[in-house]
Parts: sequence; structure tokens; C-alpha cells
Amino acid sequence: MRSKEARAAKTVEAAAIALAALAVAFAALHGNAVDAGKGKMKTRALTPEEAHVIVDKGTERPFSGAYVNHREDGTYICKRCGAPLFASGSKFDAGCGWPSFDDAITGAVVETKDADGERTEITCARCGAHLGHVFRGEGFTPKETRHCVNSISLSFEPVRGRAMFAGGCFWGVEAAFEGQAGVLGVRSGYTGGSVASPSYEQVCGGATGHAEAVEIVFDPAKTTYERLARLFLEIHDPTQVDGQGVDIGEQYRSAIFYIDPEQKRIAEKLVAELEEKGYDVATEIAQAGPFYEAEAYHQDWYSNHGGGSSCHQRVKRF
Ligand SMILES: [Zn+2]
Repeated sequence: MRSKEARAAKTVEAAAIALAALAVAFAALHGNAVDAGKGKMKTRALTPEEAHVIVDKGTERPFSGAYVNHREDGTYICKRCGAPLFASGSKFDAGCGWPSFDDAITGAVVETKDADGERTEITCARCGAHLGHVFRGEGFTPKETRHCVNSISLSFEPVRGRAMFAGGCFWGVEAAFEGQAGVLGVRSGYTGGSVASPSYEQVCGGATGHAEAVEIVFDPAKTTYERLARLFLEIHDPTQVDGQGVDIGEQYRSAIFYIDPEQKRIAEKLVAELEEKGYDVATEIAQAGPFYEAEAYHQDWYSNHGGGSSCHQRVKRF
């Protein structure tokens, strides 16, 4: 991998141009920064139907909205600015025809008495979008609270899983996970060390303690952490100490950075399985810290440049 830096340098300029084009496309898709009452923020352009409720404080017809009977785990966010507003765990069926929540995410929602003093309006604390009204003392749930919200004021973000692995040059590890069932995204970066926001040159210098690593975002309905961790232990050599193939150094070590105790349990179980099969596993199992995304030219290296990693061919071990 001696030519890695040379190849990388050539593509920096191209990557910068591509990124600039992407930023323009993103702005066009998602609306411009507008003053929504609390300083400049990114907001989404609204359709006339959305503006009728979100801006003009209208009410959608009962039982007409997308989230009345919606039952997924995740977070309901502001349709206009994306702020997280309600966790799915607070949703309940009030039979009223609008999504109902017995709690809001702390600080996310502002309550204002209507002019007639009878009802209390709720708005997004970040952008002021009209959401609906809040009612108390109705006896639906122990919290005695019903945030009655227009579906059209909301978007939904399902629960996402996250995994962090290090197994040599991140180009190859990233390529091995891209396109796997249930994998929504893979980023190359640095983690496990002590220097904040390190550069590639710093990590290569070997003094940061960081490993070249990938962060995977996955859909828990379509795959599992265990499936991804098994794959990780088969697409690199978990017995090589402080290196992977020809890439030698602590920054190329094999590591599973667990995000919660369940991931730790699974990682330890899989390593124990391999040890029972006679593998002398070198993989470090450590608590995940901050993940620093690597420079843009490192992302999607093999899909952008062709070829593949000789260090990251799948070998059946389980
Ligand atoms: Zn908002």
C-alpha cells in the first residue's frame, strides 16, 4: 500500500470539486437557509398543504394523516427544520384521529395559550412550526398529557443501529460492508486514540493511538449487529497483531469498538467462538469513543477508483 498517499493526493482536487457540486445540489433539494424567528437555520421548502398547517396553523382532517396508526420505533421530527420532537415510546392511541404523544422530547416543544384561553398550542421550539395542541387531565396515560399533533407537521426517523470496526486499511473494510443487506451507510475514519479531529498524516505517523476504522449505520429490521460483527471477523485476519496484510502499525490493528453492553457481549462471544476453533485472536474489544470521519478522498475509495483490497477477502471462519 506504498502508493496509497500518491494515489490519494491526485484525487483530492477532484473530490473537492465533487463535494462543492454536492453541496449545491443539497441546498437546492432542501431549501435555503431562512430566518425562521430564531436565527438562520436550514429549513425545508413546504408544499401548500404543509404550509396551511405548519405556517397558517391549520388542522388536517382527523384519520387522514400518515402517522395516525404508525407503529415503528424511532423519532418523530419537525417536518420543516428536522428537530427531534417526540420519541415513538411516548405515542399512544387516543382514538381521536391524530397522532398522540404523552410526552415531548425535553425542550423540543413550546406551549402557548390560544387567544381564547381555551386551548394550548404546541410549536417546534427550534423553528416555530405549528404542530397541534396539548391537552391535560384526560386520563389516557399516567402522564395525563396528550400532545395532539398533525401528521403533516412531522417526519419520521426510524431507529438506526451503529457499529464501529477497525481491520487494517479502511478502504477495504468500507468496501466489504458497502452494499451488504441492511447496511445504510459506511464511513471511513479514525477512532480509538487520543487526538481530536486527527488528519490522515497524523494517524499514519502512529502517535495518535487511533486506528483506521469504519462506522456503519444499519437498519436493525434488516440485519443485526451480530451478523455484521461475524462478517467483520471474516473479511480481515483477526489473528494479525498490529497490522493487516502489508499494512503494519498500530493504526492498522484489528478492533471492535462496542457502543453498548450488548455489542460488547456479542463481540466477546464471537471472539470466544473463534478461539475455540483454534484462532489466536488479536482483535481488541474496546468501548467506542468519538469517531472522526476521514478526509473526503478516503471515502468510497474502491468504488471510486476500481480495484479491491487484497487484505479484505472473505474467509469462512465461523
Ligand atoms: Zn421545526
